[in-house]
Amino acid sequence: MFKAPRGTADTLPEEQPYWRYIQDKALELCRLYGYGCISTPAFEDAGLFARSVGEGTDIVNKEMYLFKDRSNNELALRPEGTAPVCRAYIEHGMDNLPQPVKLFYFADIFRYERPQAGRYRQHHQFGCEAIGDPSPVLDAEVINMALNFFTSLGLANFSLQLNSIGCRKCRPGQLQKLKDYYTPLAPQLCADCQVRLDKNPLRLLDCKKPGCQAAADEAPKSSDYLCDECAQHFSSLRTYLSALGVRYVLNHRLVRGLDYYTRTVFEIQPAEGGSQSALGGGGRYDDLIALIGGKSTPAIGFATGMERIVLNLVNQGITVPPAEKPAVFIACMGGNARVEAVKLAAKMRDAGIAVISSSGERSLKAQLRYANAAGASYAAIIGEDEVKAGVVILRNMETGEQQEMQPGDLIKLAGNGQ
Ligand code: AMP
Repeated sequence: MFKAPRGTADTLPEEQPYWRYIQDKALELCRLYGYGCISTPAFEDAGLFARSVGEGTDIVNKEMYLFKDRSNNELALRPEGTAPVCRAYIEHGMDNLPQPVKLFYFADIFRYERPQAGRYRQHHQFGCEAIGDPSPVLDAEVINMALNFFTSLGLANFSLQLNSIGCRKCRPGQLQKLKDYYTPLAPQLCADCQVRLDKNPLRLLDCKKPGCQAAADEAPKSSDYLCDECAQHFSSLRTYLSALGVRYVLNHRLVRGLDYYTRTVFEIQPAEGGSQSALGGGGRYDDLIALIGGKSTPAIGFATGMERIVLNLVNQGITVPPAEKPAVFIACMGGNARVEAVKLAAKMRDAGIAVISSSGERSLKAQLRYANAAGASYAAIIGEDEVKAGVVILRNMETGEQQEMQPGDLIKLAGNGQ
């Protein structure tokens, strides 16, 4: 027996209403904020991610699905959505468009992680990227947009965690402070963090191991070592967030798992579930486009995990619009009736009415049981007598009431949604 690979999931028809609900809210959000949809391939040159997400990150070191195709190209299933969008921005000369260019995507994301509740090896993200504007006004807008998205879904009890991790200019100073602080503590750190101390000290701050967390709590705060421009940017962002009435928690340990971030980083955390269960996150990535071969272009974005949102919708008891049920089920008995049923079903669908048609191989009782299970409001029943009289019997599936009518009248009735 084959099973879905570990860490992947099938989304069955009964779960689809949640996905549809989230997608509809996302599309409305993007309409309100002027974002256009972009789709990029599920795989890219592996180097794109090594260069942007960073050689020292878990995503690149441990989690990428790497493969060589039959022409020996080194490819990776996308482990995140931002670098591909930036690659497309460069490749299609979007720097010639009025800036910022605002793009959103729905994408499946592949990471070889340890599967657990809300953590998959293939998950789905809705993400937004605003490329070509350095202003903190945009940071505030993007953060507010992310919050408005979760609010529009009916979710409550989440917090905005905010930090600034500086830029190329001030980062080396911050990293040195971290190294100075952590070096004497090295023996107490986990094996991963001992490597991070050397390769990627910022990552020390978000280690989830208890011993490392205690050390991180007391670590120097990046926001205390920002250069003047970054400090000014952060302070302006906070002013705009306050103007928008956005509440946030300053979290100096928030650094995010990808190297390309500069200045603003943020995460939206549900009240329950801890730091591993973020609903979404994002930040500014002013160096990323230059890193992958474009002109230096400031940008900011966020992404949110669809599976995490579904989990939170279910946990918070939020009901979503159910899937549409068929209006009419057509049951038939006998060869001539079957021909009429086939014709009627085609005509009703031409009129835009959702119909399920029975092949008429089973008893009427079995056909009506199926109609019931499918949630049809009405059944149109055709037997040999009805064929002769040129009528159908319409049965209200809820009340069991039946009436005879002309097929044309049935189409009018069902077409009016009655
Ligand atoms: P990231 O690209 O790591 O910032 O992730 C953005 C969002 O995607 C997170 O806030 C989560 O909601 C979601 N996410 C990240 N990794 C996973 C995963 N392995 N399984 C499910 N959702 C995830």
